[in-house]
Amino acid sequence: MSKRYLSVQLASPRGFCAGVDRAIAIVEKSLEKFGKPVYVRHEIVHNKYVVEKLKDKGAIFVEEIDEVPNDSPVIFSAHGVPKSVPEAADRRGLVHIDATCPLVTKVHVDAKRQNSEGRTVLLIGHSGHPEVIGTLGQLPQGEILLIENLEQAKSVKVKDPNNLSYVTQTTLSVDDTAKIINVLEKRFPEIQSPRKEDICYATTNRQLAVKTLTKNCDAIIVIGAPNSSNSNRLREVSKSAGCTKSILIGQADELDINWLNGVDTVGITAGASAPEILVQKLILVLKEKFDVEIEEIVVTSEDVNFSLPSALIEC
Ligand code: SF4
Repeated sequence: MSKRYLSVQLASPRGFCAGVDRAIAIVEKSLEKFGKPVYVRHEIVHNKYVVEKLKDKGAIFVEEIDEVPNDSPVIFSAHGVPKSVPEAADRRGLVHIDATCPLVTKVHVDAKRQNSEGRTVLLIGHSGHPEVIGTLGQLPQGEILLIENLEQAKSVKVKDPNNLSYVTQTTLSVDDTAKIINVLEKRFPEIQSPRKEDICYATTNRQLAVKTLTKNCDAIIVIGAPNSSNSNRLREVSKSAGCTKSILIGQADELDINWLNGVDTVGITAGASAPEILVQKLILVLKEKFDVEIEEIVVTSEDVNFSLPSALIEC
């Protein structure tokens, strides 16, 4: 029986960003330098496939510094950590390596600078996400306040409305964040913005690419982990751009092929922590079932690279 035709549009850019590449390289280089095992506090990036591969190579993932044995090196994840975490590692004399994405570190630096100039900082982000916990943890309680949505932007009470600044999580929806900032700027005309946009290039580009896919696709599949902020935003962005048939899956075997009934053109993208191999495995599954034609939709190219911490460069 002949297979049904299915047009596949692949978003470009998609998948790994420079911060994720760097974080994974830090774990691999640390294994080379220190030998097995090295400890990693929290998932180095939010992707099960990546974490399992690194476990196979000798990484051990823990949630807290207390779980790291004495004399073992520990790596902090790409999402960043509160100041208290390296302080706790120092108290124990642990070697620690920071895999925080430089674009998250930039947000930390900006929040600290604004606060040192006397401003309360409003952090736009999602409660409980490790990046948000890390950024909140750069300043004393009360000096940085979390704004999760428009309602909170409309109602937040501050001690001095003329001495405020805002920063954002790096992986938010560009459009939703602009609405929140608009409310804050109307309520607090003196509020200081970051020197440079906090939502990172990778988040912005992947959202632009998935929006472009929605113009021609009946359905969108986002590959990414359920706890990956930027992957969840890709699914939401595609829905709000008009493609209501949009799902997030961790890998190909989570796709119920019947979900594609009635779909002529499907768009595929991947969050910044999802490796390309997961996209290619999904395409293989689709090729088994359909007569697939693939077109890559390139909205922009990326050439961002981040260097490794100096302690690892020589190895
Ligand atoms: S998504 Fe952006 S902030 Fe997060 S690791 Fe990638 S480049 Fe860095």
